[in-house]
Amino acid sequence: MNHPNTDITTTPVTALKGIGPKLAEKLTRLGIHTVQDVLFHLPFRYEDRTRLTPMGALRPGVEALIAGTVELADVVQRRRRALLVRVADGTGHLMLRFFYFNAAQQKNLSRGTRVRIYGEARFGPGGLEMVHPQYQILIGDAPAQPEDRLTPVYPTTEGLHQPTLRRLAQQAIERWLDKIPEGLPTELLPSLNLPSLQEALAYVHFPPPSADVEKLLAGKHPTQARLAFEELLAHQLSLRRRRAQLAALRAPAFACESKLFAQMAQQLPYELTNAQKRVLEEILMDLRRPQPMQRLVQGDVGSGKTVVAAAAALAAVESGYQVAIMAPTELLAAQHLRNFSTWLQPLGVDVVGLTAKLKTRERVNAVANLAAGKTPVTVGTHALFQDEVQFANLGLIIVDEQHRFGVDQRLQLREKGRRGDYQPHQLIMTATPIPRTLAQTAYADLDVSAIDELPPGRKPVDTVAVPSSRRADVVERVQVACQSGRQAYWVCPTIEESDVLDIQAATDTEQVLKEALSGIRIALIHGRLKSKEKEKIMSAFQKREIDLLVATTVIEVGVDVPNATLMIIENAERLGLAQLHQLRGRVGRGAETSACVLLYEPPLSDFAHARIAALRESSDGFEIAQKDLEMRGPGELFGTRQAGLPQFRIADITRDAACLPRIQTVAEQLMREYPECVEPLLRRWIGSREGYSGV
Ligand code: ADP
Ligand code: MG
Repeated sequence: MNHPNTDITTTPVTALKGIGPKLAEKLTRLGIHTVQDVLFHLPFRYEDRTRLTPMGALRPGVEALIAGTVELADVVQRRRRALLVRVADGTGHLMLRFFYFNAAQQKNLSRGTRVRIYGEARFGPGGLEMVHPQYQILIGDAPAQPEDRLTPVYPTTEGLHQPTLRRLAQQAIERWLDKIPEGLPTELLPSLNLPSLQEALAYVHFPPPSADVEKLLAGKHPTQARLAFEELLAHQLSLRRRRAQLAALRAPAFACESKLFAQMAQQLPYELTNAQKRVLEEILMDLRRPQPMQRLVQGDVGSGKTVVAAAAALAAVESGYQVAIMAPTELLAAQHLRNFSTWLQPLGVDVVGLTAKLKTRERVNAVANLAAGKTPVTVGTHALFQDEVQFANLGLIIVDEQHRFGVDQRLQLREKGRRGDYQPHQLIMTATPIPRTLAQTAYADLDVSAIDELPPGRKPVDTVAVPSSRRADVVERVQVACQSGRQAYWVCPTIEESDVLDIQAATDTEQVLKEALSGIRIALIHGRLKSKEKEKIMSAFQKREIDLLVATTVIEVGVDVPNATLMIIENAERLGLAQLHQLRGRVGRGAETSACVLLYEPPLSDFAHARIAALRESSDGFEIAQKDLEMRGPGELFGTRQAGLPQFRIADITRDAACLPRIQTVAEQLMREYPECVEPLLRRWIGSREGYSGV
């Protein structure tokens, strides 16, 4: 069955065999609507079942295909009921552990049965084991054939299994591949030196037996490069198009006479740095125009972005418009509320906080005032873009630490102020120092300003790495600092992205420190505390009623207490460079010399060593980010917390960094010379995904 006249980009996925309404519904959840979508639902990794590994050669942390005979199978009841199955192959043995199993499974895996198993070995209580591996019973003397190709693994959703996705992809490749239109102009292909689209798709879904396994597993095969190139190009085009669409909208032009800011500046204990003045001028230029500003201010931690944001806010207020300031955490929202209140209330400008934790009555009140246009400046968390929040005349949106928000959230807030073709200005601030080439890719829809100078008198933070065996010295150091009137942070991160474990670690540390440090006022702060509680602790720390703040990484963004001069970071070897830099940025904010102690668990890997060295050698966020980029492997850009950058299917902005400049040029060329190519590329790669489909 072939479809010579059918358009693959519109043919519904149900044209493939074996897709009923139920399966179609699940596929919809993955954004798969058409046959083309199936082909562009790409494997995000591969399993290598092309070789049989002898059990004696298994290593922990590595996935492998093995085959052996069941020696023993038993249901045990320790903390949890589990089926334990011991298999052996003559070179060694392995335990399989199942927490979920039924009677049939138990019966199948009885003594003497031969099984073919795929999974990751780990150290268990009695040696190497695999938890819930994939397995297959071998009937009779059937040999445990390895596969002749790599096995693709697809992103999936509940109730949809890999074999189904593999079958669909295979079917689409077999029957529809020759219908897939090339996305790039054919004239461009030779100069790009990339394989054809059809070749690339066939290869990544169904790698031939002769495939270069190493390259494919590392994501560095030319066919993957071809698809990544197209994907990055599509993102680039969508951002540029979004920018063009925004430019066509109207925004209120502010007079920007800066009368209010002049008053505010008189109360400031410092003068703006040249970099702050320059960036503010760039912002004001935008705000005078009747088109919506879309400006990103990049500034290293401590460069003084907040005061610049306040100046911009006053420009809106002066012209009679409302301002919304959005922060990623309650903690930071509270700090902004304090700062903005201190600066603006004396000028008669009301500042109100709107967070998720407000009491119902307060919230109803606050929301009513916003809708009535009575509140000129609002500071909040994502509570700001909940449905019932409406503004009377929102003129400027300020998003702080935007990397902690998703792109979608940022756009959602922007939609808040939208009326027809009217769109508020938007100012976005980030301390994430993204290297230039990456910034151009990730923020192609924005104008970028950089506060590239720190306020005068800042001394670089003295950074040292100390093994945890010398923890007592570090505790001593905290004692000395606090007794001489300084304040300190002690940060306890864990590797797991689990705030429960983080809190446990921090709570334990607080206990230990309380016993070790007499006469020092210690408090604990973490993400699960009530927001009132957090605010109380932070403001006590600010007022020097607390000497030592034990914290999870909640304090990572934005917190500003200049008298804190000592930062201890536990398990520093587990954190990425950018995060360490952010944490270290909490100190070194006053005139005193500050120190940062990176406590680590030896032995330090070469990699961790290099990271810590990079941090010691530089205090420049951009330089550190560049190093980070060079050192990191694919897929790790700024850690998993790095939201705010688009999620790619196959591209990896770190791995593919080298081709980013070319993406820029080709994007420009396409828009200029081949505008008809743009829409199909966007539909193919971006589809209906929120935020990229345009305004
Ligand atoms: P970030 O850019 O990390 O958000 P903040 O806005 O929190 O930085 O400012 C960091 C600290 O620097 C604050 O204590 C602020 O009062 C101070 N500061 C800001 N601008 C200046 C300046 N021009 N001179 C001296 N101190 C400044
Ligand atoms: Mg800040």
